[in-house]
Amino acid sequence: MNVRAQVSSVFHLDKCIGCHTCSIACKNLWTDRKGAEYMWWNNVETKPGTGYPTRWEDQEKYRGGWEMKGQQLQLKQGGRGGTLGKIFHNPALPPLDDYYEPFTFKYGDLTGAPAGDDQPTARPVSMISGKPMKIEAGPNWDDDLSGSNIYAVNDPGVVKLSSEEQAQMFAIEKMVMFYLPRICNHCLNAGCVAACPSGAIYKRGEDGIVLINQDKCRGWRMCVSACPYKKTYYGWTTGKSEKCILCYPRQEAGEAPACFHSCVGRIRYLGVLLYDADRIAAVASRDDGELAAAQREIILDPHDPQVLADARAAGIPEQVLKAAQASPVYKFVKQWGIALPLHPEFRTLPMLFYVPPLLPVLSKEHQGSQQLADDFFTTLEQARLPIQYLAGLFAGGNAEEVKAVYRKLIAVRLQRRQASVGDLPESEVEKACELAGVSAEAVEAIFRMTALTRIKERIVLPPMLREQAIEAGMDPEAYKQGMGFGSRRPPKRRW
Ligand code: SF4
Ligand code: SF4
Repeated sequence: MNVRAQVSSVFHLDKCIGCHTCSIACKNLWTDRKGAEYMWWNNVETKPGTGYPTRWEDQEKYRGGWEMKGQQLQLKQGGRGGTLGKIFHNPALPPLDDYYEPFTFKYGDLTGAPAGDDQPTARPVSMISGKPMKIEAGPNWDDDLSGSNIYAVNDPGVVKLSSEEQAQMFAIEKMVMFYLPRICNHCLNAGCVAACPSGAIYKRGEDGIVLINQDKCRGWRMCVSACPYKKTYYGWTTGKSEKCILCYPRQEAGEAPACFHSCVGRIRYLGVLLYDADRIAAVASRDDGELAAAQREIILDPHDPQVLADARAAGIPEQVLKAAQASPVYKFVKQWGIALPLHPEFRTLPMLFYVPPLLPVLSKEHQGSQQLADDFFTTLEQARLPIQYLAGLFAGGNAEEVKAVYRKLIAVRLQRRQASVGDLPESEVEKACELAGVSAEAVEAIFRMTALTRIKERIVLPPMLREQAIEAGMDPEAYKQGMGFGSRRPPKRRW
């Protein structure tokens, strides 16, 4: 057993209100620079929808992630030879229009307009060329199903559904949506790391955060095409690629990442997971439908004496093991089994997990307001949001995985309803727990973690000793500009 520690996260989708506070917190901290305007290291998209960049899930177009070639796991964009062959022309790269052309407004026209009869307007201008432009896209252009006849119907997951399921989804009285916040997944089998010809991308040993060394990056952009989640971006002023750094400088100072800290819905959980690195290749090679379960298998019990002994032998510090034992992510993913990876069939073993949204599945429209359906179990079979769509997102198409999660979430709802309203027979609550395979204690713990916890329980940071030592001798304000690039100097263009 080759035990490693990874800082991982869970996003609880039922709690996301789509306020984009997380995106703005990240934007103001890391990507408010020239060349980075179009980058949203954290973005929130509406599902069903085509997302950002548009149709990022379509790997026939973007060639991201891994695939099985016979018995071999290989990058979908090609092995080393294939990658080098495309070094000067990579047709799988998303052009700027697939993201959107960043824009601003001529606010001076408003503030400097002379008095007149007409209301002055601020025209939109491109942040790249400075010229007036017609705004046609943005990072959340299809927010709240706006333009769903263009965006939602072209969602790669929707396209795979049967025509009856599609018709059901788009029947006007059954229209359904939820929000999907996304950041880099800091994958165990990261496609971006494997594809980089310069060896500039690396996974930090102590916490598994994936970073791009700005001194080594030559801007080949193979990471951009190899990441199936499209979470590396090319900075056109620096000529380097950049990505989410999981706010490691904040974590080193004992603070939660900015998007986690600012999340209004408190949907975000962060904690250490221990995993067996020797099993990565075997797990990533399993069949699509088995991948979500296989990824759970590779996560180790931080209370198991054998795991702890192997972890100590591998040099994992005692405080990190303690953090792993208190990890809320471990509870969600392994203990309760209610958080699933996004698109496990991309085979990068993403370490950001999602609790799938229950409300669009179970709620029904009644005289203009949303109500929970009366009979939970039959509605699961005839859900407004087809289970197959959710299975395509979170379980490599395996609907049983998603149903198992929903049964547990339903048991939580019933037990809480019984506790707070008391209009259900005790036997029904017991039946729900039995069907879901969870104890009443586990249900209570899920409820507590989902609804009542404070930030210290939701976000359990391990100590990051190396960087604390560096920080002790430096003024954070002085090196702030250079942070986030894997070095202490701001990146400089070489040509
Ligand atoms: S999600 Fe992050 S770690 Fe995973 S392949 Fe993409 S950029 Fe790399
Ligand atoms: S801040 Fe939280 S609730 Fe708001 S959109 Fe982001 S993840 Fe969702």
